[in-house]
Amino acid sequence: MKIYDVTGAVFEGMTVYKNKPEKQPRIKPVTNGYVTESRIELDVHTGTHVDAPLHMVTDGETFETIALDKLVGNCKVLDLTHAEDRITRADLESFDIGPDDFLLFKTKNSWDEAFSFEFVYLAQDGAEYLSSIGVRGVGTDALGIERSQVGHPTHKALFASQVIIIEGLRLKDVPQGEFFMVAAPLKLIGTDAAPARVLLFDGVNISQ
Ligand SMILES: [Zn+2]
Repeated sequence: MKIYDVTGAVFEGMTVYKNKPEKQPRIKPVTNGYVTESRIELDVHTGTHVDAPLHMVTDGETFETIALDKLVGNCKVLDLTHAEDRITRADLESFDIGPDDFLLFKTKNSWDEAFSFEFVYLAQDGAEYLSSIGVRGVGTDALGIERSQVGHPTHKALFASQVIIIEGLRLKDVPQGEFFMVAAPLKLIGTDAAPARVLLFDGVNISQ
């Protein structure tokens, strides 16, 4: 069995959305003699994380409403490294996608070490197509599933169909294929997202 850790590391100076300084984590070691208990200040959208509807929907549901069984299960990594600007419905139609699939998009974003303002994102028609199929979730290797499109149509199309969104994956080393995914976010209450450790297991297929 092979395990892929597709989580981005969290540290001061890490890549953050649009390089905004206020999005940087702050890690402060607090020590009193030999006892050290560090404090962290973290945007809930730091690194690899799961979004909740509240992120883009006024009075939307908060993080704890996302059931863990949606985040643990089989997933498909799709090789979309040819996508230049965005992932469209036409790009997705060539794959075998069914209801309840959890799709992870491997794009050229996975090779970016610094934030790219031209990151590959999921276009509105792609999001609407996946919503109509009824996929369980989508994961992107960018820090956003869309690039601040006016009105955030991609987020809204996905949230309207209860499609889970994971952002900030690192998929460079993962080949296209099917894996067993454990996405384990921090158990935060009342928030619009939560940082997560995401692991892909190759050779494990647990039917649900
Ligand atoms: Zn987010």
